[in-house]
Amino acid sequence: MTPLTQLLIRRIKTTGPISIADFMTDCLLHPQHGYYTTRDPFGAAGDFTTAPGISQMFGELIGLALAQAWLDQVRPSRFTLAELGPGRGTLMADALRATKAIPGFHAAAQVHLVEASPTLRACQQQTLSGTDVTWVGSTDNLPDVPLFLVANEFFDALPIRQFIRDAGGWRERQVGLTDGKLAFGASDPAPLAELAHRLADTNPGDMVETCAPARPVMQDIADRIARHGGAALVIDYGDWHSKGDTFQALQSHRPVDPLANPGNADLTAHVDFEALANAATGLTHSALTPQGVFLERLGITARAQALAQNMTKPALDQHIAAHRRLTHPQEMGSLFKVLGLTPVGSPPLSGLAP
Ligand code: SAH
Repeated sequence: MTPLTQLLIRRIKTTGPISIADFMTDCLLHPQHGYYTTRDPFGAAGDFTTAPGISQMFGELIGLALAQAWLDQVRPSRFTLAELGPGRGTLMADALRATKAIPGFHAAAQVHLVEASPTLRACQQQTLSGTDVTWVGSTDNLPDVPLFLVANEFFDALPIRQFIRDAGGWRERQVGLTDGKLAFGASDPAPLAELAHRLADTNPGDMVETCAPARPVMQDIADRIARHGGAALVIDYGDWHSKGDTFQALQSHRPVDPLANPGNADLTAHVDFEALANAATGLTHSALTPQGVFLERLGITARAQALAQNMTKPALDQHIAAHRRLTHPQEMGSLFKVLGLTPVGSPPLSGLAP
């Protein structure tokens, strides 16, 4: 039994079953035993691989898309270049390298990383050594200047709650105890004003997920961009409108029972992009675009061909596989989506349509 399992059991014994959100919060970010707090989970030897770790092309193209938005908004002389949940810092490193030749961009940029995990902050510091970086715990602490921001696989790590529709209202899915072991259960049904709008497109038995912490983050980003200018790119798995159970645990690249090993498996849920767009009041949002389409429009194939010029096998085979993995509809190309947010009246971000 992990130390976190013991803590969770004690907590449930004392105060009763907990929401999926409370369970996720402890599992991911508990100060001593949390998944992100205690390790670097990425890569072949870790639990999962994300797009920046698949190919340098991902961060390069995102850096260039944000730099183009900076050019389109008449090059503010001081701005924040921010990333939410930067993992190992690979995306930011690739974005900075790709944008080095854009006159004035680096001189105007102040890099800010929003990261909760001390372990991953240290990892980011190593990846970005030589770059002047400021770490913050939340977007509230960003300076009041134009904000050009990217979030890749950040929102999927925020705690969700799950509700099952019932004739008598909504039952919340919970983590409780059965025979002394962690087990899923559900609360008694109750009406829920927050989900009144979901009565129209659900039937008894359907599950709906909500992600309360995403809203203030998006609102704060939108408020900054509306006031000072900038743009945000949100990339994640998910859909426009959430429906069904998407809560999942990954360990060593395989799905596992989320209750089996608290603190040792990555926990995520699909992102409800409609909820993010609705929270971003005062901005224009792009069409939700599949990652493969977005990267192709940004020229990933031309970039892949240019990089391939200097490669021989087996690196070349790996490079070709990486291009496919990022773009192909049966790999990450369709599952992952991109949402762009820009000030009203500004051109849409490169690779995205209104
Ligand atoms: N963007 C990276 C990492 C994705 S994993 C990549 O694509 O590889 C999720 C990241 O978000 C990790 O860096 C994790 O520590 C961070 N994170 C999770 N919850 C957070 C929170 N509430 N506040 C800040 N960072 C958080």
